[in-house]
Order: sequence, then structure tokens, then C-alpha cells
Amino acid sequence: MGTLVRLVIHAADSSAMAPAFARIRELDQELSDYKPDSELNQVCRTAHDRPVRVSGDLFRVLEAAQKIAGESDGAFDVTIGPVTHLWRQGRMPDPETLHRCGWRNLVLRDHTVLLKLPGMQLDLGGIAKGYAADEALATLRARGIKSALVAVGGDIAIGDAPPGQQGWRIGIDPVGGELLLHNAAVSTSGDTEQFREIGGVRYSHIIDPKTGRGITSRIAVTVVARRGLEADPIATAISVLGEERGRALFGRRVRSLLVSQNR
Ligand code: ADP
Ligand code: MG
Repeated sequence: MGTLVRLVIHAADSSAMAPAFARIRELDQELSDYKPDSELNQVCRTAHDRPVRVSGDLFRVLEAAQKIAGESDGAFDVTIGPVTHLWRQGRMPDPETLHRCGWRNLVLRDHTVLLKLPGMQLDLGGIAKGYAADEALATLRARGIKSALVAVGGDIAIGDAPPGQQGWRIGIDPVGGELLLHNAAVSTSGDTEQFREIGGVRYSHIIDPKTGRGITSRIAVTVVARRGLEADPIATAISVLGEERGRALFGRRVRSLLVSQNR
């Protein structure tokens, strides 16, 4: 997933760490679009003529992604892969590339995936880290460790509060604030860390699917929800939608929503 994973646990020993890291490695092998042999990339190569059966993890993540795509009117869209792959080379998409995108061209049914157009590429970079944090936390919990924090880059999943405390203290960089949380997920999205300069303009690695261009609004969005599988894509969606539309569409659905504007 191209990022740093950090686990903090309250436990008698560290033996549950290895299985939690192994779970994240397993998910990386299934969901990465950087690894040519990942399950995701195999599906992108084969799911054109007929539906392809996929793992429970991949199906769960794609289902969650399609739900947020619908709710955000396509601002969150995992079919944006052809555009993000060009972005990584510092290139703008041409109309032909944009034609190969669109969340309605991804069809999910009975644990199968069908891609309606040739040359489609799925990119789970806006949702997989949140899910990986959830799953590592669940792996720890299954081994009896209830008070834990898992950070997969900017996507954090949190279990019970540390012994004798009200919650885990999470600093929110962009707004300089602090949250005290337990049994929650926190995701931050925005253009502060990853961007490309093209023609003197600073474009985020978050793409507005309507234009195929990286957003330029310099927004930073932090979402607190029950699970990373929601917090991560909703934070990305609101980065595209902007604060006003983001609050209107998701404000009631998430536990809290912090937006800051960097200029
Ligand atoms: P980060 O990767 O910094 O945690 P995000 O969770 O916002 O940030 O995810 C950004 C990544 O999601 C991009 O690098 C790209 O892989 C993918 N992506 C970009 N734009 C979109 C979009 N509109 N919808 C879904 N995924 C996107
Ligand atoms: Mg995200």
C-alpha cells in the first residue's frame, strides 16, 4: 500500500503483532494496484467478457466503494485507475482515457465482478488502507487484545480506550486539534502530502472524476466514523465535493467531520 503501518497495543506481550501485520500483507496482495500479480490486477485483466469470482475481501471493499460512489454522485470512484496511472507519470488524461472510467461500468453480483468496458483499471488507493486498518484491529481483537490502535498511513482504526483512560488521543494536523476516541476510525485526506506540479499548477493525487484532473482546492478533510471502510472513502469523496456539499451529503452519517483549507 506504499505507506507506513503502525500498531500500538496494550497487552502482556507483543505476540499478536505478527498476525496483524500478516493480515495487512495479505490485503496488500489482494487489493494493491501497484503489484502486477495482485488479485485486483488479475481481475482487471480478466473480468471483461464474463463475471469473475473474487475473494471476500475484494468483494467487500468494492461493495463499500460502490455505495460511497452512489452517495457521492460519483465523486468517489474506484474506476478512476486509468487516470491515476497517468497522474503517477505527471500526465493529464485524454478523452479516450476518461471514457474507460465510470463507476456504473463496474458491476458486482454474487461475489463476482464484471467490467463493462475494455481497458478499465480499478484503483483502491482511496479505500483499501481504511479497510486494512479495520482488519488488523479485528485480528488483534480475535487474539484478545481489545485496546489497540492501527494506523495505515493516514487511516487509523481504534479499539477500546487504553486502561484507565477515556480514549486514544489523536492529533489532527491540518486543524491543530485533538480528538479523544475509542472504537472508531479516523481518516484524513487532502493534497498536503501528495501532489504533482504540472504547468505551474499544483494538482492533488485525488482526482475529480468529472474532469479527470487532480483537485486544486488545497482542502484537508478528517472523517471519524465507525469503520475505516467508511471513513477512508468518505474523506476522499469530501475532498472532491468540497466542504459544503460534503457536509450536506455525509454530515449526518459520520461521527465528526473536520475540514480545513490550506492556502
Ligand atoms: P491517501 O492515499 O493520501 O490516504 P486518499 O484516501 O484520499 O489519500 O486516497 C487517494 C488515492 O485514492 C489516490 O492516490 C488514488 O489512488 C485514489 N483516488 C484518487 N481520486 C479518487 C477518487 N475520486 N475516487 C476514488 N479514489 C480516488
Ligand atoms: Mg481515502
